[in-house]
Amino acid sequence: MALKVCKFGGTSMADGHVMNNVKKIIDSDPDRRFVVVSAPGKRFSGDIKVTDMLYKCFKDLQSEGTCKTAFSEVRKRFESIVKELGLDFDMAKVLDETEARIDIEKSEDFTASRGEYLSAVVMAQLLDAKFIDSEDVVFFDERGRFDDTKSYKAIAAATEGCKKAVFPGFYGKGVDGKVKTFSRGGSDISGAIVARAVGASVYENWTDVSGFLACDPRIVESPKNIKSLSYKELRELSYMGANVLHSESIFPVRKANIPIVIKNTFRPEDEGTSILPIAQYKPSGNIVTGIAGKKNFTVIFIEKSHMNYEIGFVRKVLSVFERFGVSVEHIPSGIDTMSVVVESSQLTGFKLEQLLECIKSETEPDFMRVSENIALIATVGHGMSSSIGTSARLFKALAEAGINVKMIDQGSSELNIIVAVKNEDMEKCISSIYREFFGNN
Ligand code: ASP
Repeated sequence: MALKVCKFGGTSMADGHVMNNVKKIIDSDPDRRFVVVSAPGKRFSGDIKVTDMLYKCFKDLQSEGTCKTAFSEVRKRFESIVKELGLDFDMAKVLDETEARIDIEKSEDFTASRGEYLSAVVMAQLLDAKFIDSEDVVFFDERGRFDDTKSYKAIAAATEGCKKAVFPGFYGKGVDGKVKTFSRGGSDISGAIVARAVGASVYENWTDVSGFLACDPRIVESPKNIKSLSYKELRELSYMGANVLHSESIFPVRKANIPIVIKNTFRPEDEGTSILPIAQYKPSGNIVTGIAGKKNFTVIFIEKSHMNYEIGFVRKVLSVFERFGVSVEHIPSGIDTMSVVVESSQLTGFKLEQLLECIKSETEPDFMRVSENIALIATVGHGMSSSIGTSARLFKALAEAGINVKMIDQGSSELNIIVAVKNEDMEKCISSIYREFFGNN
């Protein structure tokens, strides 16, 4: 029998009305047995997500010694949800206990995690399902990384013989026994973890859009839907800013070849996007699957004659970045040149100057140049490697749009072509590439 794990994001939990839709979706398919939920998100533009309210609670707790006022907003949100749903259980007691524990724990992660906790408590009541606290089944190791072996075992044990269960997303427990969260948007990862642990046949990720689009709809009007993409394409696109799904969420499911389907809670009949292992993936016939971009990178260009003969040159340069704790995104290189691309947010204060000083003194380059405010645009698709002339088309389109390309990097996987342009050219760059490969839409 098929077994589905469904994760519902913040907008699917925003109020009682949508939570009732979630219940209908789950009840309509008996295979939908395990549910992972986010904290209530925005109900309208300008509204505040519960997780953001909770981060404010922690701030107040630190600065004023209490978060009573800030927590009262969280309380109101959940009380109105429970009232709207007409549930008959003591939510006030759960909220009191939560507030008291926030006070005792005095931890940012613990406070932030309570949105998911409370959401899951309510959802379990609504579905008449078992509530499984992620604190008891999702674990991190001593280096703060997700501990897969321990967690999969605990989830499998907790769900054994269980017909229906609800898990809060976003958090687990560290080796110190304290609640620890994933990065923002991390309930997607929690959903994938549960899917893997229970051996799901599919991981349904329910959100407020009908899947992935070929590019950002704020840049191109009504871009094409992507019906299916491979794990690898998803990774490239979501890492580069297509933020339908957390980019880390494929790792747990990929190993077990569990497909992910992105579905829309508000339009459940829409097909959505399937993310599949390469063996199950059927190319759409399009050369390009999608285009995504991200702003604010810094490129450090280094030139030195005979760099290629100098054994250890690249290592010396990269070890400087390592020492400064700066992670590197791309390293396109030539015979006498190399560029190192990093996210600008990592180079605050004097870090950039100091880093450049160290590179200069340790590698004695002939020339160095720094370009800031750079955007990276990834054009992604398995179809690109087998189709001759793809890069020619891409660069011709950019040339015709008058865009100055500062750097090119064709990933070693032949799955993507990355171009670097000035931040202000990013939108134009994406729309030109889109027009070239998807028509004049
Ligand atoms: N509620 C958390 C956040 O806002 C996690 C999630 O929604 O996935 O980041």
